[in-house]
Amino acid sequence: MDCIFCKIVEGTIPSKKVFENDSIVAFYDIQPSAAQHVLIIPKKHIATMNDVATEDLPLIGEIHQTAQQIAKDLGIAESGYRLINNCGPDSGQVVFHIHYHLLGGEKLGALVGTRD
Ligand code: AMP
Ligand code: ZN
Repeated sequence: MDCIFCKIVEGTIPSKKVFENDSIVAFYDIQPSAAQHVLIIPKKHIATMNDVATEDLPLIGEIHQTAQQIAKDLGIAESGYRLINNCGPDSGQVVFHIHYHLLGGEKLGALVGTRD
């Protein structure tokens, strides 16, 4: 499958990893949107939030726990952070392997939508 994040999981595309276990990888975003910007992904290829099955729920929970741990490791657990998943065209999702943006390390802007 021609998926850039599967290639990061396999190691055929390089990444600056901050965490890895049997089911999850986390690495720095190449185009950071905040002082700290890490992407957390499951090793399993799931295209979007819409494709998360009941059997995947423990994995999604584990991703949240991983975000908590990475925030601690980066020293931003107390200053605060944001965990974002983009799903589908209106969100601007460009990589169709589910991923969570962990953003922090500075005061973040408002959530971006079209309304105040
Ligand atoms: P999204 O718009 O939610 O699909 O976000 C995809 C993110 O993946 C963007 O923030 C990109 O900067 C990031 N990205 C794309 N390719 C790579 C890569 N090879 N290594 C790290 N981050 C990447
Ligand atoms: Zn993939």
